[in-house]
Amino acid sequence: MNAKKKACEETGIYSEEYALSGDTTQEALLALVKTLNEKDDIDGILVQLPLPKHIDEDAVINAITPNKDVDAFHPVNVGRIMTGNYDFAPCTPAGIMELIAESGIDIAGKECVIIGRSNIVGKPMSMLLLHKHGTVTICHSKTQNLAEVVRRGDIVVAAVGRPQMITGDMIKEGAVVIDVGINRLADKTLVGDADFESCAEKASAITPVPGGVGPMTIAMLMKNTVKSAALKQR
Ligand code: NAD
Repeated sequence: MNAKKKACEETGIYSEEYALSGDTTQEALLALVKTLNEKDDIDGILVQLPLPKHIDEDAVINAITPNKDVDAFHPVNVGRIMTGNYDFAPCTPAGIMELIAESGIDIAGKECVIIGRSNIVGKPMSMLLLHKHGTVTICHSKTQNLAEVVRRGDIVVAAVGRPQMITGDMIKEGAVVIDVGINRLADKTLVGDADFESCAEKASAITPVPGGVGPMTIAMLMKNTVKSAALKQR
């Protein structure tokens, strides 16, 4: 059973899974989204990405009604995140914010360096940290002198998808290292984007892979779904 479905069972959230075949047409997928938009007993819709190449991902995301968009990928929700007035935050960045808050780490005034600018992690992460008054830098594949920029970070979020590319020599003494990456090595070992051993020697706090960010992402999906149901009751 996949982790999201299991989490629904454990938290008592009713769930439906539609495991469609890879040759499902865009039309059929859009029709399913429309049906779920209109279903009263469904409060959250999650389309597992990436989709097959013949399907326009944006068209599918745009078809989800924003108040059931518990992933917060719909442009309406993305815009709300920009303004800071939002109901749903995307699950991975939201989970990271919870980890930081629960660990008693103050973000205000801190240098926050995010490596990766994806729509699902890097960009929304930058907004959530900014709303908490962090000084945010986003690095990406064209960033020059990456090590130098990362070394400025009091809080470093690695979301690239490259095994162990962030090494201890790139980490400021006492920094907080959040590792989003999920990478499988040739020997099937799961590792993050940070080299845990060398980064842990410098960091005041670091998230492990596996563990750390991954389970928080699922927890936030449950939280967003409950929030969606509660908002509907109003
Ligand atoms: P993505 O592939 O969409 O984006 C990767 C980003 O890394 C890009 O913005 C790119 O510019 C940047 N990048 C690539 N090479 C770089 C380099 N050499 N230096 C600096 N930046 C570079 O990735 P994504 O969807 O944001 O996911 C990133 C990683 O996080 C993946 O390993 C993914 O599996 C993982 N992930 C984990 C969770 C979780 O719940 N733990 C959730 C989402 C993604």
